[in-house]
Amino acid sequence: MSILPKKNELGFYEIRLESIGGLGANLAGKMLAEAGVLGLGLNGMNFSSYGSEKKGSPVKAFIRFSDPDVQIRAASPIERPHVVGVFHEALYKTVDVVSGLDAHGIVLVNTTRDFDEVREELHLEYGTLALVDALGIAVEEKTKVNTAMLGALFRICDFLDPEAMRAVIRKTFEKKYPHLVEPNLRTFDRGYNEVAFKSYEVPEGSAGKEFVRPEPLLGYETQPIGGVIVNPGNSILKDLSASRQGFLPEYHDSKCIHCAACDTVCPDFCFVWEEGTDKKGRPQMFLSGIDYQYCKGCLKCVQACPVEALTEMREEIGYAEEHRVPQKFILAAN
Ligand code: SF4
Ligand code: SF4
Repeated sequence: MSILPKKNELGFYEIRLESIGGLGANLAGKMLAEAGVLGLGLNGMNFSSYGSEKKGSPVKAFIRFSDPDVQIRAASPIERPHVVGVFHEALYKTVDVVSGLDAHGIVLVNTTRDFDEVREELHLEYGTLALVDALGIAVEEKTKVNTAMLGALFRICDFLDPEAMRAVIRKTFEKKYPHLVEPNLRTFDRGYNEVAFKSYEVPEGSAGKEFVRPEPLLGYETQPIGGVIVNPGNSILKDLSASRQGFLPEYHDSKCIHCAACDTVCPDFCFVWEEGTDKKGRPQMFLSGIDYQYCKGCLKCVQACPVEALTEMREEIGYAEEHRVPQKFILAAN
């Protein structure tokens, strides 16, 4: 008898992980597949799709399982997943993360928000939502988001054996980094135990979410004549919020001594200055704030600030837009 809870017409149980580079979705996909193949004797495969950048660009990881007597000959991206795991909330803005989700599918989201808010943003009418604060767990345990997400994914894929995963974690860290074994085991267990579920009734006969294959905006039919580049690689137009891994610098102007140490280390010219005069009436530049539009959350500025006028904060949805101090050249352009 099959241990897989659901299968598509080819006999596959399919999982798609939606993430950004740097959060470890690729490795999480590998470990999930390994747990099914080596731990349970299932057939399985996994691969990821990502761009050339190491951090910040969208990443997808695909995992397929089948019973031992069903061969997996498909190596295509997963379009009708039974489970989707979303590692970073900012992805909603640019990627249709639930595209093609099975009607009875489960979406796991790394978030601190509540079910109804997340459901609304995902435009999810039915199916099951699973929420876990994977980043919060990782910060508290000083580990990585992917281990907490793996814990939650093991709870969702309850045919997999969490003990096998604990053994993999031990094996991975015990030789080189023995001090990381316990925190990673705790992270995995917390992801497993702290994930919360809510199901929304599925209307009879529902097919699930339609899968929309992302097409390039410009093709041979639509590109401007003469090969003109109308949208150059320009950070004024680009939304960098998905590059941040959950943290932002918070500016406390009452503590600032306007020394510009932050500006010196910032790789993206995020700091906005205004001309003024000091107490003796001499001209001086004063820091007015941060243009979060360009901030990739590296937190170099927090380390550089000598007076704690910049501190690390957990990013909340909407904070960057609300507290952004636009660069002067943007105002001039508008
Ligand atoms: S976090 Fe990094 S990118 Fe953002 S303002 Fe600080 S130094 Fe600049
Ligand atoms: S490093 Fe700190 S004190 Fe200096 S300008 Fe930046 S925020 Fe202000």
